[in-house]
Amino acid sequence: TSFGFRNVGTGEKQPLVNDVFHKVAKRYDIMNDVMSAGLHRAWKDAMIAALNPPRREGYRTLDVAGGTGDIAFRIIEASDRKAHSTVLDINGSMLAVGAERAEKKKLSANLDFVEANAEELPFAANSFDAYTIAFGIRNVPRIDVALKEAYRVLKRGGRLLVLEFSEVEMPLLDRFYDAWSFNAIPKFGKLITGDEAPYQYLVESIRKFPNQRDFAAMIKEAGFSRVSFTNYTGGIAALHSGWKI
Ligand code: SAM
Repeated sequence: TSFGFRNVGTGEKQPLVNDVFHKVAKRYDIMNDVMSAGLHRAWKDAMIAALNPPRREGYRTLDVAGGTGDIAFRIIEASDRKAHSTVLDINGSMLAVGAERAEKKKLSANLDFVEANAEELPFAANSFDAYTIAFGIRNVPRIDVALKEAYRVLKRGGRLLVLEFSEVEMPLLDRFYDAWSFNAIPKFGKLITGDEAPYQYLVESIRKFPNQRDFAAMIKEAGFSRVSFTNYTGGIAALHSGWKI
């Protein structure tokens, strides 16, 4: 692509990513809290507030790279348990944790879990009212392909929302954040899971991901309209929005 996000070849990257998430699946939720100092919860809540799912039956959403279900669960709860959400992930270990959590929360009736690749969605065109992806798209080898797939499966009038780590746009925070991510995150990862390499990968994947404006341009390129973004916590994360009209 013209965005320079091509350090690891497509063929090498996905097996590496899969290995990371197979290893961390059982500890994934606790790691998220530790490494983001709990902030991921606030960012996810803000994403759902932006989506503002209607409280009506028949509203269908697709949560890609849905992992252990955080986004899908929040959507269903925000819709007063009216919405339906499909959690799609390439990794069966992450989905298994998600399905177990869904049982405990008694949300299973509103959910299904699909093991598939974001680059090749096993759904008909014009199927969903919303497509969400949180902290997932930077792991996908061909982001442009995933975005085109998002466009294809959305209905006309459907909404794309992408929550992802982004470029810190606050002067002091960026230095603190660098220290945190390059030193603390891999160390915590090692402490909790016994393995440092997966977390080094995660930190590097954040560095390589396009910044807010470049990523917005990629979303437009895939066909979306009214593309915009909102920074969270000085740009540590950003929410990108687009519409299929
Ligand atoms: N969305 C969840 C959340 O916010 O807690 C999970 C995010 S987790 C950091 C990234 C997820 O992306 C992992 O579960 C991983 O298996 C998944 N993933 C990586 N590559 C993928 C691909 N090509 N297609 C679908 N999912 C993928």
